Amino acid sequence: MSLTPFACSVHTHSTLCDGKNTPEEMAAAAYAAGVKYFGISCHSHTPIPVDEGAVLPADMTAYRAEALRLREEYAGRMEVLLGIEWDSQSDIRPEGFDYWIGSVHYQRGTNDRYYAADWGEEHFIACRDDLFGGDALAVAEGYFTEAARTAAMKPTVLGHIDLIVKLNAGNKFFDEEAPRYKRAALDALHAADAGETLLEINTGGMARGYRTTPYPALFLLKEWRAMGGEIILTSDAHSADTILYGYEQAAELAKAAGFDRSVLLTMDGPAACPL
Ligand SMILES: [Zn+2]
Ligand SMILES: [Zn+2]
Repeated sequence: MSLTPFACSVHTHSTLCDGKNTPEEMAAAAYAAGVKYFGISCHSHTPIPVDEGAVLPADMTAYRAEALRLREEYAGRMEVLLGIEWDSQSDIRPEGFDYWIGSVHYQRGTNDRYYAADWGEEHFIACRDDLFGGDALAVAEGYFTEAARTAAMKPTVLGHIDLIVKLNAGNKFFDEEAPRYKRAALDALHAADAGETLLEINTGGMARGYRTTPYPALFLLKEWRAMGGEIILTSDAHSADTILYGYEQAAELAKAAGFDRSVLLTMDGPAACPL
């Protein structure tokens, strides 16, 4: 049987960070959905006070043990990979994992406050007004500067590269067609190594009702294709019922950008499969 992108779901959260279901429940749901390569990728520890309890503790011993326990439980039926979604403000190093997803969720202000990109309009507005003199496009530029820094670290997967549009449906805060916006987003993409990093097509914003299309935007995917990059489909699942959420739409977006294959993460490394 040939594999499809539906065989792989490696951007998943659980009750060990901010997810709704336990790792056990997430693994069971993945297996029931036909997943062959299931990855656990809780949020890495950050020094940000509001993250306490919503991200892993700095000591990840229990986290690692739970992933390895599930690996044993599913041995021969489904590969369980130990990953992490590493936040750009994290105070741990993304080492010792089967893979890591490099993501930006915050901008750190010169005032030492952290401004979330995806937590609610009040955070966006505070970031715009406190740090950028009311210039919403500058918020996006600041976000992409952080994304470029993360991309340059060569993560296995570059996470939701344009998350900053999450709260911007209908161009509510800034124009996603503005040259300044596109330049900043493309600069972040160009900081990635297309031979080392997979770009994810992430349906998490759709599953949670913020967006009607996956991340990233089509122009970024087309550019990634031109750069010779490969993609991976992910759901950023925070609950057991969204393990493969929106994969059909993600595959359509990939095809629209010219891709005819995506990549699965396996214990033997990345493996391409047709879309
Ligand atoms: Zn994320
Ligand atoms: Zn995530």
